[in-house]
Amino acid sequence: MQIKRLGSAIIVSGPSGVGKSTVCGKVRSRMPELKFSISCTTRQPREGEVDGVHYYFISKDEFEKRIANNEFIEYARVFDNIYGTLAGEVIGRVKAGEDVFLDIDVQGALQIQAAAEQNELLKKVCEFVMLAPPSLEILEQRLRSRASDSAEQIEMRLAKARSELSFYKKYNYVVINDDLETAAADVESIIRSQRSRTDHLPEDFLQ
Ligand code: 5GP
Repeated sequence: MQIKRLGSAIIVSGPSGVGKSTVCGKVRSRMPELKFSISCTTRQPREGEVDGVHYYFISKDEFEKRIANNEFIEYARVFDNIYGTLAGEVIGRVKAGEDVFLDIDVQGALQIQAAAEQNELLKKVCEFVMLAPPSLEILEQRLRSRASDSAEQIEMRLAKARSELSFYKKYNYVVINDDLETAAADVESIIRSQRSRTDHLPEDFLQ
């Protein structure tokens, strides 16, 4: 018989340039059983992005409607667009014992923390992971090596990165992305260790 335990919601944030998409992609390929929370966004799809796979791409009007319907556990304005996590992507799944992976920005992660203060289930299942660079100098080098950004954009991203990293103490874990494989393995071990938590077990465990 399989023990019916609660799953976890692993919330990963990190500043632009830290390599978050690459690390998250690596974790997903190491742990194919992980469910990825698909966010809603008002931004346009980039080349190769598929609606319902990478994001739910919706209009601003539709987004506002869903906010009014209380469908989001968090949403945040990132640059000129709105991004949000649907409660439906997370709650039912963790109750069913599945682990859900959320790649969201710091504003959104802090909103989930605030919601968890009022919600026993979220408090039990959420773990917050900040992905950080080995140093601010290295982050700056990584941002400067992206040919697509102007000097002004780089300064803006750096200032935002500093401010985001300053919230690290609000997270349960900080994973340094010095080496991709190591960082992905660290995130994986955090997720795996949640599976042994006492408070994720049913009340009548082995009784
Ligand atoms: P991108 O447009 O490059 O896919 O994402 C931009 C930023 O928005 C990233 O930092 C990403 O983590 C964040 N993001 C993606 N989905 C969500 C979400 O549902 N909520 C919040 N708060 N941020 C999100």
